[in-house]
Amino acid sequence: MKTILYLHVQSLVGRAYASWHFIPSLRVPMLFRTFAALPLFAVLSLTFLNLTAPAAEPTFSFTVLEIPDIQRGAGLAIVMRTPSGKTWLYDTGTAHPEKLSSDGWLANFNAGRDLIAQHLQKEDITSIDGIFISHAHYDHFGGLLWLKDNFPIKLLIDCGYIFHSDVEADYLGTNKGELDHYTRVREEFRSRGAYLCATAGETLKLDPDLKIEVIAPPKTWFTAPHITTRPKNDTPSHFLVNANSLMLRIQFGDIVFLLPGDIQTEDIEASLMPFVDKSKLKCHILVAPGHGIHPIPKEFGAATHPEVSIASVFPRYAKGIRSTKDLQALGTKTYVTGLHGNVHITTNGKTYQVTTDRDDTTKPPASVTKPAPAAAK
Ligand SMILES: [Zn+2]
Repeated sequence: MKTILYLHVQSLVGRAYASWHFIPSLRVPMLFRTFAALPLFAVLSLTFLNLTAPAAEPTFSFTVLEIPDIQRGAGLAIVMRTPSGKTWLYDTGTAHPEKLSSDGWLANFNAGRDLIAQHLQKEDITSIDGIFISHAHYDHFGGLLWLKDNFPIKLLIDCGYIFHSDVEADYLGTNKGELDHYTRVREEFRSRGAYLCATAGETLKLDPDLKIEVIAPPKTWFTAPHITTRPKNDTPSHFLVNANSLMLRIQFGDIVFLLPGDIQTEDIEASLMPFVDKSKLKCHILVAPGHGIHPIPKEFGAATHPEVSIASVFPRYAKGIRSTKDLQALGTKTYVTGLHGNVHITTNGKTYQVTTDRDDTTKPPASVTKPAPAAAK
């Protein structure tokens, strides 16, 4: 692609130079005598100068960062850069506030500080145009807790969901403080006029380069379906927060990315598929739902039919995740951050390229752990 573009530019430059060289009225001595030709010369010169500097092809970049294993939640953080220089994040990776830790974060790690800020600084990015948060779990908004106090963030976007139940058992197995913490962060952004609530059916006019559509959840959010097969620790305060992840379809030119958050297999089948316009799920690049840990429902696989999938999960789980086989059966090229490191996609809107930091798919793992059934935090 790059070679073709270079040749194309070269031929344009050649043509412009030939026109200038062989049109006698444009030769410099002539110009001194023919003042009328000056404006024409100026216009042609500017055109010529523009063509000599090879125009950079407008590209959109999409990077899924590798989140390290701090023995708590898999984590997801995606950095997007548009041709006009805007920076959008979808989730901000893991961080858990920890009073006993020397820097206030569990395992002295905050993905906002230790991964995202460094990634942005490397690219000379000094402010963030907006951050989409898929749902209120620390492995998705933990990084925001540091970024919001250390980086200018123009906008926070989420679906506005707050889990509430009068049944105490619905909260078993989750940390209510985590959910409440995110509600406070949302209010902080809302109070300074930097918050946008978005639900299914909306097309967000945030960036002239991107078509951003909200696929789910609906305005009234998904409620608990009657499923009897869930593990006991997968209570509504856990799976409903996952099910109500902000699902986005992002299109640059012809290339479509689908970002479903952490919605789990049962909720894709029972809540998403009956509700969604299936034609909106078709994509080139799928961020595997729920870190790719769970199986991909057949109907969802058929509707999305991605060429490429990316699962964000650390090496300990990377080879045991169940989405890989399901997606490969569809012919999808699968990437897992725990095996490939940062997964980076660049596209000109027609074609795209995937590059990774490494490839450990054939390397024998140091240890493999089968993810627990309710592991997708
Ligand atoms: Zn998660």
